[in-house]
Amino acid sequence: AAADVPTELTDGYHLVVDALRMNDVDTIYGVVGIPITDLARLAQAQGIRYIGFRHESNAGHAAAIAGYLNKKPGVALTVSAPGFLNGLVALANATTNCFPMVQISGSSERHLVDLKQGDYEEMDQLAAAQPFVKAAYRVSRVEDIGRGIARALRTAISGRPGGVYLDIPAAVLGAIMPKEEGDRTLSRLVDPAPRQLPAPEAVDRAIELLASAERPLVVLGKGAAYAQADAKVRQFIESTGIPYVPMSMAKGLLPDDHPQSAATARSLALKKADVVMLIGARLNWLLGHGQAGWNPDAKFVQIDIDPKEMDSNQPISAPLVGDIESVLDALAERTKPGQITAPSAWREELGARSAQNVAKMAKRLEADPHPMQFMGALKAVRDVVHAHPETYIVNEGANALDIARNVIDMHVPRHRLDSGTWGVMGIGMGYAIAAAVESGAPVVAIEGDSAFGFSGIEIETICRYQLPVVTVIMNNGGVYRGDDTNPYDDAPSPTTLMSAARHDLLIEAFGGKGYRATTPAEVTAALTEALASGGPALIDCVIDPSAGTESGHISHLNPKGITVGN
Ligand code: ADP
Ligand code: MG
Repeated sequence: AAADVPTELTDGYHLVVDALRMNDVDTIYGVVGIPITDLARLAQAQGIRYIGFRHESNAGHAAAIAGYLNKKPGVALTVSAPGFLNGLVALANATTNCFPMVQISGSSERHLVDLKQGDYEEMDQLAAAQPFVKAAYRVSRVEDIGRGIARALRTAISGRPGGVYLDIPAAVLGAIMPKEEGDRTLSRLVDPAPRQLPAPEAVDRAIELLASAERPLVVLGKGAAYAQADAKVRQFIESTGIPYVPMSMAKGLLPDDHPQSAATARSLALKKADVVMLIGARLNWLLGHGQAGWNPDAKFVQIDIDPKEMDSNQPISAPLVGDIESVLDALAERTKPGQITAPSAWREELGARSAQNVAKMAKRLEADPHPMQFMGALKAVRDVVHAHPETYIVNEGANALDIARNVIDMHVPRHRLDSGTWGVMGIGMGYAIAAAVESGAPVVAIEGDSAFGFSGIEIETICRYQLPVVTVIMNNGGVYRGDDTNPYDDAPSPTTLMSAARHDLLIEAFGGKGYRATTPAEVTAALTEALASGGPALIDCVIDPSAGTESGHISHLNPKGITVGN
C-alpha cells in the first residue's frame, strides 16, 4: 500500500544549498565550525565552489568584492557569535561601499539565547547585525528557508546594493521535513534587480543644465563601474566631449590614457567646473563633500539609483534617479545632436594643466634614489603590469594606496579594487582571493606593510588554492613611516613595525615563492618571474623607512590638539 512507501526526507542544510543553487549562487566564501560545517560540505558536494578562509573578515571581504565584480550577491558563511561578528566588519563595509553581499550565519538555540541562558556562542545576532546592514532577516522555521534566501538575495542586489544578514539557527539547519514539501518552498527570483527608469522631465532638466555649461565635468564613481554599462558610459563621454575624473575604483572604466580624462588636472577641474555630473559617485569625504576645492557656484547633476543620495551634501540641481544604464539610454534618446558639448577653451585649459602635471610626475618617476622609495618600486610594478592589462590590482595602505593610485594607470573596467569608501585596511587578501577565484586572471595586491598585517594569514589560503596572486609589500617598517621614535623610553613608537621583517619568508612557509627586492630592478625581475609562474608569490619591497607621510594624503583628517611631547 502507498502508506508503506517511505517518504523521501530533506533537511535545513539541503534546503539552504538547494535554494542557493536555484538562484545561481556558485561560490561561497567562509570559515567553518558549529553549526555550519556540514553546510559547507554539502554545498561543495552539490557543486558550489567553497573557498575556506582563516578569518571571517577576509572571507566576507572576498564575498563583497565578488558581488561588486559580478553584479550578483557574493555569499559569505560564518559560525555563531565571534565568527559572525568578524564577518560583520566586511558586511558593514559592503553596505558602505554599495556592494551586494549576503552573510549567512549559523546561530545558537533561540530559546536559550532569548532567555540569556548562556548557550555555546550565545548572541542575539539578528539584533547585533541590524545597524550595520541594508537588512537583516532570520529564518525561524525550516519551511521558510527558501523564502529567507530569496529575500536576502533580492534585498542585496536591488536598488542601491548592499550587505544583507541572514540568520539561520542551528535547529533550523537540522530540522527535517518531507522532500516534496520542502521543494515546494523554494523559488527562483524573477528580475532580482529591475531596471529603474528616470522620469522624462528629470532627463530634460539635466540636459538643459548640461547644455548651458561652459565648463562641464563628469565624475565617474564605482557605482558607474558596478553598473556594467561600460559602452554607454563611454558613448556619453565621447559624444559630448565632456572631460571626466574617475574615482579610484572607476579607473579603467575608460582607459586612464583617454584624451578626455582630467585625472591629471583634477584640482583645476574641480575648482573651475560650473556644471558637474556625478555618475555613480557620492559627494562624500572623498570629494570634499562638494565643498573643499570646488567652485562654490558649481551646479550638480547626479545619476544615482538611491533617491536619498540627492542633496546629501550639496543641492542637486538635476537629480536623475534610476539605474545608470537606463538613465544614459534616456539621455541619449532625449538629447538633440550637438546639444551638449564641452567648449574647447575648457578642454584646452585642462589639457595644458594635465601636460604640466604629467611632465612633473615623469621627472619624479625617473629619479631612482637609494634606498628605494615608493615611487621607484611602484613604477617598476606599473611597467610590469602594463604588459598584462588583464591583471587585477588590489591596493590598500596609506602612502602605498595614494601613490599606487596615481602611478598605476588602469585600462580595463573593474580591475582596480581598493580601500573604498571607508578607506579601510584589511580588504587586501580577501579582495585578491575573490578576484582570482572569480576571474582566473592574475592579481597583484599592492600592500602597505601595515595594511598587509590585517589579512596576511590568508596567504595560506592563496597557497592552498594555488591562486595566481602576487602580493607586493611596500615595506617601510611602519604604519605611515618606519622612522618614528618614542622619545620617552625604548618601547617601539605607536607607528613602528619591524623594519627588518622578512615578509617574503612568510609565504615560503606555505610553499609559495618569496622575493626580497631592494631596488626597482629587483622588483621588476621578481614581479616578471612571479606573474610568469602563475602561482602564489610575495615580493617584500624594502623601502626607505623615512619614505611616506603620516596618514598619506589625508593627514588633514587628524584632529589637531596640543602637540604631543610638548
Ligand atoms: P565612489 O567612491 O567611486 O565615488 P560611491 O560608492 O561613493 O563611489 O558611489 C557609488 C554610487 O553609485 C552609490 O551612491 C550607489 O547608490 C550608486 N549606484 C550603484 N549602482 C548603481 C546603478 N546600477 N545605477 C545607479 N547608481 C548606482
Ligand atoms: Mg608602511
